[in-house]
Formats: sequence, structure tokens, C-alpha cells
Amino acid sequence: MEGVCETKLCTTELESVEFANQNDCLMEIGLGNYGCSHYRRRCKIRAPCCDEIFYCRHCHNEAKNSMESNPLHRHDIPRHEVVKVICSLCDTEQDVQQYCINCGVCMGKYFCAKCKFFDDDVSKSQYHCDECGICRTGGEENFFHCSKCGCCYSKLMREVHRCVERAMHHNCPVCFEYLFDTMKDVTVLPCGHTMHLACLREMEQHYRYSCPVCSKSICDMSKLWRKLDKEIASTPMPATYQNKMVWILCNDCGATSNVQFHIVAHKCPNCESYNTRQTRRGPVAAASCSTGMSEMVR
Ligand SMILES: [Zn+2]
Ligand SMILES: [Zn+2]
Ligand SMILES: [Zn+2]
Ligand SMILES: [Zn+2]
Ligand SMILES: [Zn+2]
Ligand SMILES: [Zn+2]
Ligand SMILES: [Zn+2]
Ligand SMILES: [Zn+2]
Repeated sequence: MEGVCETKLCTTELESVEFANQNDCLMEIGLGNYGCSHYRRRCKIRAPCCDEIFYCRHCHNEAKNSMESNPLHRHDIPRHEVVKVICSLCDTEQDVQQYCINCGVCMGKYFCAKCKFFDDDVSKSQYHCDECGICRTGGEENFFHCSKCGCCYSKLMREVHRCVERAMHHNCPVCFEYLFDTMKDVTVLPCGHTMHLACLREMEQHYRYSCPVCSKSICDMSKLWRKLDKEIASTPMPATYQNKMVWILCNDCGATSNVQFHIVAHKCPNCESYNTRQTRRGPVAAASCSTGMSEMVR
């Protein structure tokens, strides 16, 4: 254990120095040298569920959930129930606390007693949100907790986001990872539904511009709608279709309309969106018979 002598050296050296400096020293010993692929930290946790030792809850969940071949043994760690940590420098197992009871080293520059969470990389500006009940990153000053959405959102969104009850308490509609405590960036669509930013980008690369949950447009599509206007104007339908009418339901405004059939796309007369789907009948039974925008955006 090279960490041990390193620590001893530091503490003896500091016996004559004032306490504040000693604290600084203990704060820095081994800083950045310990941890896993998820967090830099100077302790491991004992998982209360399976009594095994891991660097962090993600390490536990990867081993006991994603990688566990026996479905009966799969489980997530109940993170708030962690009671024991093991100092990475002196290997002492102890109750959850920021400074090691034995060697005095700081086990995590950022420490949350509620989440039993340690992280030496404070550049993430971690903070604990009491309403979320978990620690988040990005700086408390930049976020507010929306009680309707049940999550912390950027202050830039305070006035402009559409509230959706517990918007973040579900899985990403693309990759199915639970969003509330994901480590990846999450984006809120204009409709209020949420997904990973990377998953949204991937959707856009595949020319999908509608929310996978409610089918509303995910951004201002007016430019594309004008392009479709032109395409339709330059693609007259054969005479036999001139009088063919179809019912459409607009995914954006929800209006049902009877419009002239066109092979390219159908425009909602109410809001001018082409994000529409054909329905079998009028306003009463709006059964879908087309998947809508994904087919039409090329
Ligand atoms: Zn880990
Ligand atoms: Zn220690
Ligand atoms: Zn916390
Ligand atoms: Zn919150
Ligand atoms: Zn909200
Ligand atoms: Zn995702
Ligand atoms: Zn939506
Ligand atoms: Zn519409």
C-alpha cells in the first residue's frame, strides 16, 4: 500500500503546522489517483444489498445488473442505504463520512452525506437537490427544481419549458435508460418530453423530427414545411386523384381536417404543419393508418 506511507509522511510532517494547512494536505493526498471510470474518489463503498465492495454505484450496477447473467441475481444498489465505505489509502472500513477515521485523508472533495456520494472532481459543480433527493451536476446557481416535472432544469428554461408531470421519471424513449439519474446530458423537447441529448442527435441524423412519445415536432420546422409546399406545388397529382379527399390528424396542433390527397404529404390547414397522419374517418374516430412524419421527411 504505497498510499499508507505517503499519508503518514504527510501527517507527521504537518504536526507542527497549523490545522488549516493539515486539512488542505489531507484534502489533496492521492487526489485524482483513485477511483473508477465513473468517479475519482478515495474510497470504495460496501453495497448493502450484496455485501460486496465496489468503487461506486455504477460499478455495482454494471456488475450486478448489465453484466449479471442470472436474471434472479440482477439488482441496482439502494444508494441511500450505503452505510460503510473503505478508505482507498489505508483500507479501513468505516461509517460513511468525508474524512477517513484512520488516516484522515479526504475520501471525496465533494461529499454528500445524504447520497453517501464522493467525487474528487469538483469541476462538475455538484450540488444536492433535496426535492430530487439526489446530487446533480452543473452548479446549483444554474438550476431550479420544477416540482411539476419533478426534476432540476436549467434556469434558462424556467419561463419557457412546458411542464409534463414527472417528465424525467421515465426511460429515454430511444435507448430506454432511466432519465432521472442518468449521467448523460438530457434535453427537454418543446412538447415537454425528455430524452438524452445524444439520442436526440441520433434521431435527427436519421431525419426523425418528431417526439417519439407524442409525435409533436421537436423543433421549428417551418423551413422544411416551405420546402414541402414547393415540392407539392411541383408534383401535381394525376387527374384520377384530383377529387380524392382524406382525413388527417395534425400531430402538432391536434386538429382533424379533411384535405385533398397528395402522395408527398398532407398539410394541416389549421397550423400549416406537415407533421400529420392520415386517419380513417373524421374527428370522432381518429384511428391512425400512417406513421406520419418520418416517412414524409426525406
Ligand atoms: Zn464506478
Ligand atoms: Zn484512510
Ligand atoms: Zn446528494
Ligand atoms: Zn431537483
Ligand atoms: Zn416543469
Ligand atoms: Zn437515450
Ligand atoms: Zn412529446
Ligand atoms: Zn396543425
